[in-house]
Amino acid sequence: MESIYNKSFDELVSYFESIGQKKFKATQVFEWLYIKRVKSFDEMSNIKKDIIDRLKEDFVIEDISLEKVERDIEVNKYLFTLNDNNHIESVLMRHDYGNSICISSQVGCNMGCRFCESGRLKKVRNLTAGEMVEQILKVEEDINERITHVVIMGIGEPFDNYDNFKRFVEIVNYQKGINIGSRHITVSTCGIIPKIREFSEFPYQVNLAISLHAPNNEIRDKLMPINKVYPIQDLIKEIRNYIKVTNRRVTFEYILLSGINDSESCANELCDLVKGLNCYINLIPYNETNNSGYKRSKKDTISNFYDIIKKRKINVTIRREFGSNISAACGQLRSKKEDL
Ligand code: SAH
Repeated sequence: MESIYNKSFDELVSYFESIGQKKFKATQVFEWLYIKRVKSFDEMSNIKKDIIDRLKEDFVIEDISLEKVERDIEVNKYLFTLNDNNHIESVLMRHDYGNSICISSQVGCNMGCRFCESGRLKKVRNLTAGEMVEQILKVEEDINERITHVVIMGIGEPFDNYDNFKRFVEIVNYQKGINIGSRHITVSTCGIIPKIREFSEFPYQVNLAISLHAPNNEIRDKLMPINKVYPIQDLIKEIRNYIKVTNRRVTFEYILLSGINDSESCANELCDLVKGLNCYINLIPYNETNNSGYKRSKKDTISNFYDIIKKRKINVTIRREFGSNISAACGQLRSKKEDL
């Protein structure tokens, strides 16, 4: 049965109309779900019994369950069990500007990036928007605080689950609901060009991050199979269009892998590639995993790479590291409970 968290406000309005009820019931239900945070329809005390019974026939409320939490100083990692016994993970990061959550968008992932742990399990299925929403609700419940920022950078490729991603944004952004500002939401993609095009028309100001990780096709082909489908020049061209249409800045994520993509000539080539784009480059020290064989670049190499970009007057940061003690860092999330 469908989770009620999967319904956007407008869809809930249509639902009530379709069962011959007044629209404002949707406002009441949203308030119970997202402001008062009740877990059963019976608690919705201003809604008549016959409507409650109908809601119970048509929807469930809780659809995912919290299986395990690992806590570190500024990071918690959450393992969830879905109603079909699949597993996903989310990560809470405490920043000075607020609480940020990294959510998963799929069980497994089909993109096959060589360096990433999450893709070792092929995609089993897409998450529903409701399952994405519930990751936020459950983590807020655990910490008893509000989450202010969301990044869709956990397990899965969100642009391979585009419709549910859009619906998710609509639900969490709704003002009389969870009310997370769209500028506080970031979606990260490995570069699915047709979806970047669609996303440029998406009427919410969600931030876009691109997992680039290489300055040319030769290297990117080896790291990311998606590059064979959507080569790097086409990707950059699409991003140029995106920036033109939206007037927004794009983030390029670039993992530094020792001896693979961290040379000075790579840094220069990267600058040439993104020159003139309204962007910033986020350098990511690689989190080594047992299975990939790649090594993290040395500290000096990382700072040298950073300096070259900086000198070329391109915005650049080195990603602050979070969560590697509890395997909660980028690329370390998995869908398999027994691996944890
Ligand atoms: N599929 C989307 C969303 C996942 S984002 C995407 O590709 O963007 C996860 C981010 O972590 C990506 O930038 C990914 O490339 C990066 N990542 C994956 N494995 C990593 C690792 N072992 N160390 C550091 N970053 C990693």
